[in-house]
Amino acid sequence: MTKAILPNSTIGIFGSGQLGRMTAIEARKMGYRVHTFSPGRNTPTGQVADAETTASYDDLFEVRTFAQSVDVVTFEFENVPAAAIEAAAEFAPVHPRGEILHTTQNRLREKTFLSKNGFPLAGFRRVRTIEDLFKGVEDLGLPAVLKTAGFGYDGKGQTRIDVHSEIEAAFDALNGQEAVLEQFVAFEKEVSVVCARGQEGEFAHYGVIENDHADHILDVSFAPADVADATAKQAVEIARSIAEAFDYVGAFCVEFFLEGSGTLRVNEIAPRPHNSGHLTFDACVTSQFEQQVRAVCGLPLGSTEFFHPAAMANLLGDVWANGEPNWPAALKDPAVKLHLYGKSDPRPGRKMGHLTATADSPQKAAEIVRAARERLLAS
Ligand code: AMP
Repeated sequence: MTKAILPNSTIGIFGSGQLGRMTAIEARKMGYRVHTFSPGRNTPTGQVADAETTASYDDLFEVRTFAQSVDVVTFEFENVPAAAIEAAAEFAPVHPRGEILHTTQNRLREKTFLSKNGFPLAGFRRVRTIEDLFKGVEDLGLPAVLKTAGFGYDGKGQTRIDVHSEIEAAFDALNGQEAVLEQFVAFEKEVSVVCARGQEGEFAHYGVIENDHADHILDVSFAPADVADATAKQAVEIARSIAEAFDYVGAFCVEFFLEGSGTLRVNEIAPRPHNSGHLTFDACVTSQFEQQVRAVCGLPLGSTEFFHPAAMANLLGDVWANGEPNWPAALKDPAVKLHLYGKSDPRPGRKMGHLTATADSPQKAAEIVRAARERLLAS
């Protein structure tokens, strides 16, 4: 039996963005203390935490001091270096395990792990040299997408290759970084399974969430997804099996491409709460963030039941293009809930907050959040 870390204990969070902020809000609701660690100051997580350490992840003295001050360590950001995780693990349990982060920090390691374990993926090849890239294109065909192996998210570090004449420029754009060439998937839609796994292997999921992207960044999510029952079942089973293969503890997300034929392919996995699961905050008995707290503290997972179908629209810095957004106009519809992350610099493309709503259908909820977001721009 796991020894639970009880309320009033301190949860340490590596990373200090909105995912940590919402986890910290749920943790504090349950009576936990929160200590966040990142290079930032006055961060989205730090603003709601009990303590904020500002230091580099490479500063192992500060990492050890932090780990000694908390009862358990988790992450909201997966690019924490392995050495920092090992140093923290000398003093406190770390969930999910450091090896999982190491695997998911790099697309090549992640895809290799998934394909070795038999999970469905788009075809891929490792690319280190221009010869690898030419050979990869020969094997996989075009169109294809070339992605840097490390530090890629929201379409950053990605180049689509449609014709042979684009191969050399795509390779040059890597600037010597290791990459993965991936078959382009002509998907019908993108969906995700947000779930959580506890320390005794128990598993809870929120069904399938449907995701619309704009410029490679998540734009609107709604749940339940408009997919066949058999597809939903299969997606959840894949997510459960991946979580088991990793012996995972915490909140977790699997992003999929769904083809018109009904074929699901794993795009990527997130070893943390995920943007597509933000709608669980207002729409479910237990949010993905509360599940993260429960799982890492060794408590039973909560019910994932939805009160109603739900949707979420991201608010990027672009919404500030004409000055302060019109918040009262967006909230005129009482179904709409506002979440802002406490960031002061609304740069284009930067995730600043989101809107959620529930309704009788997921499509209606999506309409409500899209319309509310439009009203933010009204003068
Ligand atoms: P990623 O950062 O790999 O999740 O990519 C961001 C977005 O780019 C995805 O959500 C897709 O919309 C698109 N994308 C990435 N890889 C592919 C692919 N192999 N085929 C089609 N679209 C892709």
